[in-house]
Amino acid sequence: MRLNKYLAHAGVASRRAAEELIVAGKVRIDGTMVRELGTTVADDSVVEVDGKRVQPAREFTYVMLNKPLAVMTTMRDPEGRRTIADLLPKTMPRVVPVGRLDYDTSGLLLLTDDGDLAHRLTHPRFGVEKTYRATVRGKLAPDDVKALLAGVRTDEFRAAGAQLRIVATRREGTIVDLTIHEGRNRQVRVMFESLGHPVVTLSRTHFGPLSLSDLPPGGLRPLTQREVQALRAPVRE
Ligand code: URA
Repeated sequence: MRLNKYLAHAGVASRRAAEELIVAGKVRIDGTMVRELGTTVADDSVVEVDGKRVQPAREFTYVMLNKPLAVMTTMRDPEGRRTIADLLPKTMPRVVPVGRLDYDTSGLLLLTDDGDLAHRLTHPRFGVEKTYRATVRGKLAPDDVKALLAGVRTDEFRAAGAQLRIVATRREGTIVDLTIHEGRNRQVRVMFESLGHPVVTLSRTHFGPLSLSDLPPGGLRPLTQREVQALRAPVRE
């Protein structure tokens, strides 16, 4: 790979700015200063800029799946149920789901082989926001809304305050957009159940900066570079 491209992939600078670093004598390959713009870098070379080693990031895979209902968020199911592995092309690198959606929850599921980012995105320290569209039984009373905003106390946990938008109130129930930044088991279902409004349907529409938009159930698409950057930025050290 040409040196300026190598430096750009390593996040040092744009290709143009990398050329300036090379000409300025700031770059060494295997300990030797290089000032030739056409220099290429061998796979096993050590490249330094201002005395610090730099390396291009590995190319990871990041995809968004609209998980349909009745699919397990695992790669294999001992009981033989349909899993997300059944929805991925066989040629895809070995990705893992970032977090989990219940068997009976649909919606946005991020998959990646970038283990470090996956770990950060699910770590409570970073509190990545998730938005769910829920249809719940009955009509939410003002006290229910207050409790959700303040933080519902259930038999299983005390939830942090959520954001809430009532989308529609129908005879068959209330449609609500709920944003939480925790990831407890069946959290949304437990929260509404504890208020006496069991969840009838549940779908995740957003995960951090990602939006499901019009991806159809079972649909899969790679993230754009901009989306990957937007995911990374808030979970840096
Ligand atoms: N909360 C739930 O109750 N279920 C999910 O699948 C995700 C969040």
